[in-house]
Amino acid sequence: MSRSTHRAVGGSTLALALCATLALPAGSAPLERSSGPAAAPASPAASSLQGQSCNDNTGDTGSNSWLSHAELGDRLHRLEQQTRGTVQVDTIGQSNQGRDVWSARVGQGDKVILLQSEIHGNEKTGTHALLSLLKEASKNSPQAKQLREQVTIVAVPQLNPDASELDRRANDRTWDEVVADFPQLAGANAPWNYYTQPRQGDDYASQPGFDVNRDFHPDLDYVPSAQDFPGTSADPGWYIHPESQNIRDLYTDLQAEFGTVDTFVDLHHQGPCYLVGDTGEEVTLSLSGKFVDIENHTQYDKGYDLEYSKRLNVAALDALRARGNSPFGNISLYNQEVNLPGTALGSFALNGSGTVLFEVRGQTQSWGAKKKGQLVKAVETGLMGIVTSVADDSVDELDPTRYDDIPPTTYPRN
Ligand SMILES: [Zn+2]
Repeated sequence: MSRSTHRAVGGSTLALALCATLALPAGSAPLERSSGPAAAPASPAASSLQGQSCNDNTGDTGSNSWLSHAELGDRLHRLEQQTRGTVQVDTIGQSNQGRDVWSARVGQGDKVILLQSEIHGNEKTGTHALLSLLKEASKNSPQAKQLREQVTIVAVPQLNPDASELDRRANDRTWDEVVADFPQLAGANAPWNYYTQPRQGDDYASQPGFDVNRDFHPDLDYVPSAQDFPGTSADPGWYIHPESQNIRDLYTDLQAEFGTVDTFVDLHHQGPCYLVGDTGEEVTLSLSGKFVDIENHTQYDKGYDLEYSKRLNVAALDALRARGNSPFGNISLYNQEVNLPGTALGSFALNGSGTVLFEVRGQTQSWGAKKKGQLVKAVETGLMGIVTSVADDSVDELDPTRYDDIPPTTYPRN
């Protein structure tokens, strides 16, 4: 049922970025795909992958090797058939352009784990990892059967399909469309996360869109009001988009069913050139459990539990490290100086969910099947570490202070 033993722990102040581009440590390289020459690593040691995967080949040319919206739909519905409904696929809503958004559910346990990918459409590794996880969790093995008795897994593998089809960060929606949906916003300024200029090589001038991952509000019943626009990254969002409304509505349905959404994991990508601490090794993925400065958002605190989020991150870390050295061992802690209540993670954390961010290196890259397979496996491994430790409650035995010992991410300077 609901977690009751975890207590909230205060965060620190400061405000910066999440998942790239919008705000960065001073002097750092741009996160997510760099439009200019990639940064030279600042640290001394040289990784065998540097030059090959960081500097030369990070363009958006690899989308064909990733799942399209239609392919994902085929895979999900086939999985539902093959498992005779052990995996249950539902349509939770439509995107702004009318594409279906699916959830896939497996298990009957009384703790629910909500997993999401592709809220940014050019961050596709998590979608593949979620399909693998669903297959694993729906097997006939004793371990899988036990897992299904312990937890309920709900995966939304492509939350923002319009962005996925365009292979870009933002959705496909204009401010005029928003105002048509919310007439009370006529005359308000478009929000700060509205893209109308070229960005990351994508043409938002002719096809504008919004960063959906800034549209969340910790008050899940919030109604958009003109006075809250254009807002800033330190303010909550507004639920003005079908994509954020879809996952918000699924979240509140799960709250009604389970009492609380125990765990929420959001799967992202970041720039390709970041390093693990001072090792000089390229980051395979960065983890984080901290997205808001809780002291500035106490009015929205409905069970914020940073310590539990840290334990969940340690569970992912241990599963990855158990696979041995590089690339699975190259895990870093994402920038902790963020304050982003408008993100899904920030909003759901304030509602009492344990939260984990995965930031895999590289956007929709074309590094070949082997590297892609490694990155997908890394995400799947970390996810499985979280799921199994929640299932058997071993997450409660993990030491949250180990989270603070994860090597920081080093952001090379241009
Ligand atoms: Zn992202």
